[in-house]
Amino acid sequence: MKRQLFEEDHEMFREMAAEFNARAVAPHYGQWDQDHMMPRSLWTAAGEQGLLGLAVPEEFGGLGMDDYRFRAVLDEEFAKSNHLAVGLAFHLHDDMVLPHLLAYGSDDLKARWLPGMVSGETVTSVAWTEPGAGSDLRGIRTKAVRDGDDWLITGQKTFIGNGISGDASLVLARTDGSTGRGGRDSFSLFMVRKSEGYNTGNQLDKMGLKASDTAELFFDNVRVPHADLVGEEGKGLQYAAEQLPQGRLAIAVASSAVVRAVYEATVTYTKDRNAFGERIIDFQNSRFELADILTEVEVTETYVDQAIRAFNAGELDAASAARAKLWASERAKSVTDRCLQLHGGYGYILEYPVAQAFLAARLLTIFGGTNEIMRDVVGRTIAG
Ligand SMILES: Cc1cc2nc3c(=O)[nH]c(=O)nc-3n(C[C@H](O)[C@H](O)[C@H](O)COP(=O)(O)OP(=O)(O)OC[C@H]3O[C@@H](n4cnc5c(N)ncnc54)[C@H](O)[C@@H]3O)c2cc1C
Repeated sequence: MKRQLFEEDHEMFREMAAEFNARAVAPHYGQWDQDHMMPRSLWTAAGEQGLLGLAVPEEFGGLGMDDYRFRAVLDEEFAKSNHLAVGLAFHLHDDMVLPHLLAYGSDDLKARWLPGMVSGETVTSVAWTEPGAGSDLRGIRTKAVRDGDDWLITGQKTFIGNGISGDASLVLARTDGSTGRGGRDSFSLFMVRKSEGYNTGNQLDKMGLKASDTAELFFDNVRVPHADLVGEEGKGLQYAAEQLPQGRLAIAVASSAVVRAVYEATVTYTKDRNAFGERIIDFQNSRFELADILTEVEVTETYVDQAIRAFNAGELDAASAARAKLWASERAKSVTDRCLQLHGGYGYILEYPVAQAFLAARLLTIFGGTNEIMRDVVGRTIAG
């Protein structure tokens, strides 16, 4: 089935993204994977190419490309070439941090932060999760206390992508002085630049996506100007909930691209390899499995494309985004597993893209909200 989502402009953008991926990412990705780090020059190169901060308006240094199909194209190019760590790093910056600044930041805040985010000179991370609070953000203990024209932030975060390589974090902190499980108005969002008291912990050793750095962050009375409070005090959780659909849509897009890429690689592999005098693809089990997988590929693409259209129309609600993320990431988990099996022993060898995709895809049902939380969000809307 031919996808109907993209138009000529998107395909031209895809050519540019593919060229960037082949030139600036592919030759180095193996090394970054070993280093557990990407160089900052990748960010500025992406910025020069116009691949960061797509939705940023021209007055703040961007191209004003808020049609999500462009972001989807970029995500797809990284995902299908197994450069998911680059996709993840850019995703945190563009799908998680940026929408909050665009939606709630003052003009002053936008003028100070957005041009650097577009050029890649400022790399951002999103710092919500804590050792004691992941799914349940109301358990966050990091606190921000007002001190004249500033805030002082103290606490600990974990699993923060771009945490070591980045310059600043969008931090969710408790601002009402409460303890225990906070209320809806207990939390606020701040843009926090690395400065005195802002310390990064060790790299967390992930099973996949190693080229993207993930770390703990420690804040010890980090001084943040009031001007870097994003939007209004006490609205942090509300803002996070309002912007989560974009983050979840992005995970659905990446999942769908992984499913397609792994399917295609497996068709090629099973045509090339023989056993018992036949191609692997000629065994009925292989053909049945691939028939099921191709059906899942197309259903997933169609469903995710519909979610992208809804997002562009301003109609992707939280439950619809949760369903897209739930469906697509479960397919990514299952399809990478079944395709790995069709590769036999080679599927277990990291040199083969299917092995890397299997490890990377395992994250997709967990981060951005676990799929149990997605089911909960959807289930609540069903139950009313
Ligand atoms: C590689 C990686 C990168 C990440 N990047 C970031 C990042 O950049 N920034 C950031 O802030 N966070 C990041 N995260 C954190 C991620 O979003 C959390 O791990 C995730 O939200 C789950 O939180 P948790 O790990 O605390 O699990 P928990 O909340 O402890 O959950 C444990 C289990 O209990 C289940 N569970 C919890 N509550 C319920 C419920 N109500 N009903 C049913 N089941 C439930 C969960 O689904 C899960 O299976 C990242 C995580 C990883 C692994």
